Amino acid sequence: MSKQALFGKTLEELTIVTADLGLPAFAARQLAEWLYKHRAVSFDDMTNLSRSARSKLAENFDIGISEPTSVAVSTDGTKKYLFSSGMRSVETAWIPEEKRGTLCVSTQIGCRRGCLFCMTARQGFQGNLSAGEILNQYRSLPETEDVTHFVFMGMGEPMDNLKAVLSTLEILTSDWGFGFSPKKITVSTIGIIEGLDQLLERSDCRLALSLHSPFPDERAELIPCERRYPVMQVLDLFRRAELGRRRLTIEYLMIDGRNDSARHSRELSRILEGLGARVNLIPYHPIPDFPGTPSPAGRIKTFRDDLNHRGIIATIRRSRGLDIDAACGLLTTKRSGSVLQLRKKHSPTSRQRSFSSIMREPE
Ligand code: SF4
Repeated sequence: MSKQALFGKTLEELTIVTADLGLPAFAARQLAEWLYKHRAVSFDDMTNLSRSARSKLAENFDIGISEPTSVAVSTDGTKKYLFSSGMRSVETAWIPEEKRGTLCVSTQIGCRRGCLFCMTARQGFQGNLSAGEILNQYRSLPETEDVTHFVFMGMGEPMDNLKAVLSTLEILTSDWGFGFSPKKITVSTIGIIEGLDQLLERSDCRLALSLHSPFPDERAELIPCERRYPVMQVLDLFRRAELGRRRLTIEYLMIDGRNDSARHSRELSRILEGLGARVNLIPYHPIPDFPGTPSPAGRIKTFRDDLNHRGIIATIRRSRGLDIDAACGLLTTKRSGSVLQLRKKHSPTSRQRSFSSIMREPE
């Protein structure tokens, strides 16, 4: 039988481990620091733990980290890593820029939420990742030292795996863990209210809400869970939570003729009024079985200008990793050749590309 992994356990969980093994209470913090701060690869590295403590740990546990099994490299420098263990595979996107490095992590294998525009949804749901498996995407990334920001926008809906996501956030931001500021971490959701409620209470990280249409019926066509968690209730929750300095981003896919009219920008600014949220406009990336195409660059710019004119800060997000299917909504471990064909058919013209590449989210 395989041993339990220690990597991914919080300080509280490590305290239970050390108590069960009869080790002194302070050993839990030492263990956490070896696992996260010092990135130990074996129990022998943990030199301030006694020899007998190290052998007890090694008898009962594994460290629990694993290297990526493959990588695809985009012409724009984005990389998509595959982490596999047995039947479990998950994708992670590494997005380097001049002054920052963003890691887009996955929280589930597949997803059960069935959003129409999303390749992960086509895969169905195959399981939750543990905190250790989520954190391993950072810890075992070859560029781990260059990571400055995290976005939880890979495969899966983070609120559907909340316990593991909360443990991950605690380990990423604790002084005994990786020590990142919560301001460097953005968790994205389609708006699962029960999960968001808890996340708002237990973490200071930034949030992103996938909105995609301000009209409930239209949004429900794209995001079926709108019927159970209406976006107006989600926005009310954010209003009640008094976000203060915590940044809220609204993710808005721009789909030609579907959600990109003046009527949409008007209603979007109305429902966001007073929330202090910023809007990221993302050109839609076509996937099979969904008859959408990206909005033309000019219409995206008009939409942005209209929002800005109405007092809502909006920017156009630069698409990264399109040629390796690492861009927004394209991560999946179930491959389909038709994604590539679709992408070629609808890849941005050079004019669109240079237009989008000069736009970026402000700090
Ligand atoms: S957009 Fe997010 S919540 Fe919707 S199916 Fe894809 S991964 Fe799941």
